[in-house]
Amino acid sequence: HTVSIQTASKQYDVWIGEHVINQLTFFIQKNFADATKILIITDESVEKLHLKTVENKLSSFPVITYTVPAGEKAKTFDVFYACLTYMLEQHLDRKSLVLALGGGAVGDLAGYVAASFMRGIPFIQIPTTILAHDSAVGGKVAINHPLGKNMIGVFNQPEAVIYDTTFLTTLPLQELRSGFGEVIKHALISDVAFYHELQSQISDLSKVNVGYWSAILEKGILVKRAIVEKDEREANVRAFLNFGHTLGHAIEAEMGYGKFTHGEAIVIGMIFALRLSKQKCDLVFSIEEFIKWLKQLGYAYDIPENLEIDRLIDRMRQDKKSVNGTIRFVLLKELGIPVLVEMNEEEIRKELALFKGGK
Ligand code: NAD
Ligand code: ZN
Repeated sequence: HTVSIQTASKQYDVWIGEHVINQLTFFIQKNFADATKILIITDESVEKLHLKTVENKLSSFPVITYTVPAGEKAKTFDVFYACLTYMLEQHLDRKSLVLALGGGAVGDLAGYVAASFMRGIPFIQIPTTILAHDSAVGGKVAINHPLGKNMIGVFNQPEAVIYDTTFLTTLPLQELRSGFGEVIKHALISDVAFYHELQSQISDLSKVNVGYWSAILEKGILVKRAIVEKDEREANVRAFLNFGHTLGHAIEAEMGYGKFTHGEAIVIGMIFALRLSKQKCDLVFSIEEFIKWLKQLGYAYDIPENLEIDRLIDRMRQDKKSVNGTIRFVLLKELGIPVLVEMNEEEIRKELALFKGGK
């Protein structure tokens, strides 16, 4: 299957399904046959599992590989710099191409590297995680600063996204859970039927087969597409994609990256946002049932005991999206209908205390 993405700045296709990696050869032949070098940026885990498959598709092209640490460690200034050094040493030029082979971390890094090298060379996303159905589409690329996650980056759309779901079979359960958190988010903010389908069909993430993952991920991408096509640069509706992320990011940062995956943290953030939605927007929704399902899937569903509310609030205040003293939440008026709501810190502190206290 393909999904075509048309943003203000670019049109590109997302191929999703088993063995779509075969498209890579054709796509490069058609569009980049004269590439001087093709640099695959991948991480040390994905390298061992899937690099060969990709290299085999490109045996007739001048391919080189640069391997970065797995996970958030890829998104540092040091790794960014080392990548660029390697590219200069290897004489890449403006007619070279970057392939991002890995999860969201590799995609974010490689997309930013590609945007920066000689003022920008093209790149292709080859996502290998469930989470990357979100990160590989939409063109946000970034690295982290010690003072904040994703603080240094640009908008840079890929030339194509080639999402071979056979790569997903090697993912550990915790990574399935992380990515599925974003799938749940996409369903809750825009597609009630999709949400009910997920809730009734999926009770064990380790048993979802590749064919069904392809279908689910395609739906998630369609939700993301509808939003980024309307608002590539987050002037308005793109902010809805931050549902669950205001608290989720704060939890992730306070826990230390790696303890909780991104998706696990935003699931807790979504529960909190749903609680606020019931209060402030009269959302009709059974949070008890939602939590029951999440438990079954193995998610944590409350704020970890050791996290202090004041520190979480400090983190939320530092968020790019917070404006003049209030903190902005994405809430739901109805399932599938998000709204932006500015809340003052006192109110949030009170609600967080109730949530953390199990009330
Ligand atoms: P990741 O890239 O760190 O991958 C998670 C782990 O899974 C890593 O250890 C990786 O080595 C491993 N892995 C990847 N593919 C695998 C495979 N097929 N089999 C086995 N192991 C595999 O993280 P992620 O969860 O994919 O993405 C998280 C990142 O994405 C965060 O940095 C987040 O900020 C970013 N993100 C970006 C956007 C965006 O719009 N740009 C959106 C959401 C998230
Ligand atoms: Zn996210």
